[in-house]
Amino acid sequence: MKTPNPMGCRHCGIDRRGHAIQAGTGGSHTWQQPSQQQIKDRMHARRVAAEKG
Ligand SMILES: [Zn+2]
Repeated sequence: MKTPNPMGCRHCGIDRRGHAIQAGTGGSHTWQQPSQQQIKDRMHARRVAAEKG
């Protein structure tokens, strides 16, 4: 399973470079920086996924 980029959009997880205006729940949005907690959680999820192989 693919884990999102730690620095991906806080709403949808798409990397900033690939992010245009995305439609989502609550309407369309542009890239927004994830919170420190989101970054931590995503990095942790990546590490766990890597350890599982
Ligand atoms: Zn987004």
